[in-house]
Amino acid sequence: MMVKKRLSTPGGTRSRGIHLLLPSLALAGLGWTGSLAADVFLSAYAGAQPVIQRTINAYGGADRLQTLETIYLKTEGTTYQRYQSRVPGPPFDELEGNENTYLLDLAGDQFRGEFRGPIFANGLIIRDGKTYNLDLVRETWTEAPSAPDLRQHFIQRILPPLLALKLYQRSRSVTLAGTSTIDGQLNDVLSLAWDNGNLYMVHVARDSGLISRYDILAPDQVVGDTIAESYFSDYEDVDGIPFPMRRWQQIGGEKTVDFRTVEVDFAPDLEDRFAVPDGYVELPSPAPPASELRELAKGVYLGNGAYQNLYIDMGEYLISVDAGGGPALVRTDLAQLDALTEGKPLRYAVMTHHHSDHTDGVDALSATGATVVSSERNRAYLTALVNGRRYLAANAERPLQPEGGLAYLAIGDQHTFKEGRRRVEVYRLPNAHAEDYYVVYLPREKLLYGADVFNLPASGPAFPANEMFDGFYQGLRALDLKIKIVANAHGPLGTGADLEARADGAKTGTDN
Ligand SMILES: [Zn+2]
Repeated sequence: MMVKKRLSTPGGTRSRGIHLLLPSLALAGLGWTGSLAADVFLSAYAGAQPVIQRTINAYGGADRLQTLETIYLKTEGTTYQRYQSRVPGPPFDELEGNENTYLLDLAGDQFRGEFRGPIFANGLIIRDGKTYNLDLVRETWTEAPSAPDLRQHFIQRILPPLLALKLYQRSRSVTLAGTSTIDGQLNDVLSLAWDNGNLYMVHVARDSGLISRYDILAPDQVVGDTIAESYFSDYEDVDGIPFPMRRWQQIGGEKTVDFRTVEVDFAPDLEDRFAVPDGYVELPSPAPPASELRELAKGVYLGNGAYQNLYIDMGEYLISVDAGGGPALVRTDLAQLDALTEGKPLRYAVMTHHHSDHTDGVDALSATGATVVSSERNRAYLTALVNGRRYLAANAERPLQPEGGLAYLAIGDQHTFKEGRRRVEVYRLPNAHAEDYYVVYLPREKLLYGADVFNLPASGPAFPANEMFDGFYQGLRALDLKIKIVANAHGPLGTGADLEARADGAKTGTDN
C-alpha cells in the first residue's frame, strides 16, 4: 500500500515548521518489529518518554514539582487586539500597560486573578466551588453558579513548571510528534491530551529540557482553523525551578500577547487573599438570557441569548442587524422569526461593526441569500469569515452558501432602508471601539440599536464613560435623534436619558 510505503521512508515531512518523526527512526533503538500500525503508536509513545524525563528533571524533578501547590505570578505587557481592533487588521491595535496577577492555591482549590488594562479592570476569585467575578472599576462583584476545575484551568498552561508536571502525570497520553526549531534551537515536540480532551503540542528544547512553546488548536475568525502558539523564553532560576521571564503568543502568524514576568513566588502568603475586597457591592447574578425573540415595537424583534441581534420586518422582507453568537444562535433566531413573520425572506444583514463576536454568525445569514451590509473596508474580512475553514468552532456544521458567493452592499456614513411606513436609518459613528461602527435608528419607533459601546449594566452603578463612548456620543448628538428605546447587543433595554446620564457622568468627572 502507498501509505505503508510512505510511512516507512526515512526522512521527514514538513508541516508548519514541525518535522514529523518517522517510526523507523525511533524504532531503530528499540529493536521493535511489530506491525506497522503498532510501530507508529508504540514508537511515538516510547519516543516521548525520555523527553518527558528530561523535561521533568530540567524543572527540578517530579518530587519537587509535586510539592508545588501555590504560585503567585505578576506579569506586565502588551495585548494585540486581533478580534477587537478599530479596523479589520492586521496590523492590530496594541494595548500597552496591561498588568495581570495570578494567585493559585492547588491544595486549597483556590484562585485569584486580577486583569488590568487601559480600558478595563476585572478580577476573578474561585473558592469553595464557586466563582466570584469582580469589577475592579465599579467595585462590584457577582457570583457565578459554579467554578472551573483548577487543575484544568488555563492558568496551568501559562506556568511551564506545571505544564512539565502535566506531561509527567499524563505521560500515557503523550506521544512524540516530531521536532521543531525555535530560535535556532532543536526542540522535541510532544503531543499531550489534556484531562479535558484538548490536544496540546509541547515543544521541549533538546539541550535544556525546558519548554519553549506550546500550541493549541484555535478556531480563529480571521484565518479560520489555525493554532495559537505560546512561546516561553528568558528563563531564570526561581527557588531552584526555571521560570520564563517572557511569554508571548501568536495566532495565524500575528502576535496577540507579549508579557514579561514581574514577580513569581512559589510560597506566597495566602492569608485573606481569596476574599472579596472590603467595600465591594454585591450585584445580583445576571438573569439568564431570554430564549425567545422579544418584540420591542411592532415588527421589531430583539434576539435571544448572550448576543441580542436585531430583526426588522419591512413588510415584504426582513432586515437583520448583527450576527453575534455564531451560526447556531443566529439559526435559532431565524427559526423563531420565520414563524413570527410567516416565512418572510431575509434580504439584508447589517453589521454594526466587524468584531468577530458580533459577526461570527454571518455565514448563517448569507446562507439564506441575504445581502451583507457594512463598509467597503469590512468587505474582505466578512467575505473571509463566510468562506473560512471553521471546523473547530462549535458551529462545525457550516451553512451552505448560495452559488455566486457572498452578496455585499458597501455603505458609507449613512444609509436608509425604506418600505411603506417603515424606515430604517443606519449611521456610521466612528469611535475608539471601531472605525466603521454603525448604529441602526428607527425614527417612527424612536429606537436606537448598537453593540458594545453603550451597553447598560444589568444592575448597579452605570458603566463609566470612556473614550469609545465619548466618540460615539459626540457623533450621536450631532445627529439630533429623538430616542425613546435604547437596545444593545448586550444587556438590558434603556432610554435616551440613560445615554445622557452616562455622558454627563463623564463631563462632571465622576468617573474616568
Ligand atoms: Zn465590539
